[in-house]
Amino acid sequence: MAAVKTSSPFAKIRNKVLSGERLDLDDGLNLFNHPALLEIGALANEVRERLHSDVTYFNRNLHLNSTNVCEADCIFCSFARVTSDMPQAYTMTIPQCLDWVRERLKPGMTEIHIVNGLNPDLPFEYYLDLLQALRENFPQLHRKTFTAVEIHYFARKYDMSYKEVLEKLVTAGLQSMPGGGAEIFAPRARKKLCHDKATADEWLSVHRTAHQLGLKTNCTMLYGTIETLEERVDHLLRLRSLQDETGGFQAFIPLAYHPDGNRLGAIGAPTGADDLRVIAISRLLLDNIPHIKAYWVMLGIKTAQIAQIFGANDMDGTVTEEKIYHMSGARTPDALTITELEHIIRSVGRTPVERTTTYELVNNVECTEHNACL
Ligand code: SF4
Repeated sequence: MAAVKTSSPFAKIRNKVLSGERLDLDDGLNLFNHPALLEIGALANEVRERLHSDVTYFNRNLHLNSTNVCEADCIFCSFARVTSDMPQAYTMTIPQCLDWVRERLKPGMTEIHIVNGLNPDLPFEYYLDLLQALRENFPQLHRKTFTAVEIHYFARKYDMSYKEVLEKLVTAGLQSMPGGGAEIFAPRARKKLCHDKATADEWLSVHRTAHQLGLKTNCTMLYGTIETLEERVDHLLRLRSLQDETGGFQAFIPLAYHPDGNRLGAIGAPTGADDLRVIAISRLLLDNIPHIKAYWVMLGIKTAQIAQIFGANDMDGTVTEEKIYHMSGARTPDALTITELEHIIRSVGRTPVERTTTYELVNNVECTEHNACL
């Protein structure tokens, strides 16, 4: 690392990190304002290598979005259609979901990730039936399903507590939760971006309840819209605080805003430097969340690759037909093969390691021929 003036804010942060002292709000702001991105990246890389050596994790997964009908009014969203009669609105039946999975299932796949719109036309039984049908037909797929925003919606719509909703979904087959819907916690930004869905406190409360029930979950932050740097740091520190309390978050996934096809448009869409800075600062601030994931679908493959030397230690997986970011203009492919993923990871000097959803190592004996797999 280049020489750093010992009295500079960055030198103090570096000393804190290297001595295991926790960073605070001012440190986070100083990192966002520090001009030398490579210094921040190198420091985050030190932490990343201390935690995970040269390993980069990936998994073999499917992303299913079984309905994009959503009554919420998030102005950054390109995926949702407000009513079921709008162009491109869709809702898949349970048999259609099963056929969709069957057609795309490859040997060695271990996870199905499901995120949907807040569809006012569906009964709660739809979600229970979906989970049960997936468990019966594809028991090899871990069911990582429904964001905290969806759980909050189910609780209000079907008149249950978060605990009751989650217990019923777990009985039907839910095994862990994705981290979407957090967006930016600050009320100022949330009011403009997504005024009518779960608040920050409600999002955090759903995850707290899930963790108390023994579920592992992920967490996210949407950046590059209208949020201030202070609001980014505040968001990260609120996640860290819940993690101190519960320990239930596995991975943090920064989500870069994509400007196409929504009402927010091209204001402030993040640059590659922004992406790497957010990854690195996340690694430095979130000292209690084990994994930082560079989600290749939204970062782009090349940035997600370089993120592996800026603090990230996960690339997500094969994905297969991601819709949410592709409907907002992501130019990435809608799936990667294992061979491609491994090549991308090795080319940046990391060792690819396949994991399950909950970060157990996979020894895919049934899948030694990568050409047969995604
Ligand atoms: S971000 Fe989620 S809750 Fe908001 S409109 Fe899109 S699908 Fe609905």
